[in-house]
Amino acid sequence: MRILKKTQSMFGVLALSFNFMIPASLPALDFNADAFDEIREMGKRKIIVFKENTTAEEREKISALILAKRIKKLEGIVNADVALNLNPKELAALALNPKVARIEDDAIATISAVKSKAAIKASQIIPWGIDRIDAEKVWPAGNSANPVKVGIVDTGISSSHPDLKTNIKGGINTIRPWKSWNDDNGHGSHVAGIVAALNNTVGVVGAAPQADLYSIKVLSANGSGWFSDIIEGIDWAVANKMQVINMSLGSSSDVQSFHDAIKRAKNAGIVIVAAAGNDYGGKVNYPAAYPEVIAVSATDQANAFADYSSKGPEVDLSAPGSSIYSTYKGSGYATLSGTSMASPHVAGAALLVLNTAPSSYDIDGDGKWDPDEVKQKLQDTATDLGSSGYDSSFGSGLVNAYAATQ
Ligand code: CA
Ligand code: CA
Repeated sequence: MRILKKTQSMFGVLALSFNFMIPASLPALDFNADAFDEIREMGKRKIIVFKENTTAEEREKISALILAKRIKKLEGIVNADVALNLNPKELAALALNPKVARIEDDAIATISAVKSKAAIKASQIIPWGIDRIDAEKVWPAGNSANPVKVGIVDTGISSSHPDLKTNIKGGINTIRPWKSWNDDNGHGSHVAGIVAALNNTVGVVGAAPQADLYSIKVLSANGSGWFSDIIEGIDWAVANKMQVINMSLGSSSDVQSFHDAIKRAKNAGIVIVAAAGNDYGGKVNYPAAYPEVIAVSATDQANAFADYSSKGPEVDLSAPGSSIYSTYKGSGYATLSGTSMASPHVAGAALLVLNTAPSSYDIDGDGKWDPDEVKQKLQDTATDLGSSGYDSSFGSGLVNAYAATQ
């Protein structure tokens, strides 16, 4: 509920400033169309899930009743329509239709990070988080995660950033499919840099500096997004054979269609890593709280539990999250704090693990890494923190990329 409350008050502020803006010369202002859509649509979007045996023809017949209100169709992982502003009569008719499995509220997820200060460094530095997880000890032996594929499910990735560009191989914008997946917030580029900033002479270096980055833009410029758009992004990750996806976003809402999408991605072999949430010791957010996801809490430079981090029995691992310097929108750099920053350290470590032989961790004997096997290795090789053994703050401990790749 905490996240939702935060979101509502945030939109309250946006709505107020919008009302204020109406009498003024609207085109002259730096008006955020994406934010406007979310004010208008807040609490009014529904996911209409069809039964599995529904044919395309039957589905279109049902959708014809609400065609003008349909925003998008979800096909593949979840067989559903997303619609806006349905009235009680339309909702009742849909609910009674034998081909409709259920109607769910489309919830909102938000990023879990706070920006502190921007800084410019003269030459490449190894950020403290990369050093702390011992990623830089993995590269000399020739493992930089080339060419393991990682989807950054976020606000996009800066397509022009000199410290990311050559690692970016593609992407999608599920909010506005006709627009690019370029980052209009900065958060997604920051996360991407922690995973795979280039090992060159400038800026920073990521945990897996030769991984293939894919920008899955599901969050708008203000750092929030609809579950239905995120589901579409997960669907894209499955169709395009991502090996890891990082989700530095969260919500207190548990929506079945969203969980179904997560399950299908894991069944497709994708290692899913997510931020535990920034609820100051409160409950782990979704999707991190789902058992199919590696949930990551945040630590600071003293290896202490970050006060803003969520915690609970769903936490699997912890990783550096406080005062993390990384790439930002355009060709910039920024220092951000949050479990949003912790999650990509684990995603980067997972990419490096995927580039090794599974050996004794190949539990099902198929010769390749499966998500549970990767998770097990990361947990077995983590550095225990806090109370001895597993605990609900640090999970199995601080992730260690070097130990996990031995
Ligand atoms: Ca660099
Ligand atoms: Ca412990």
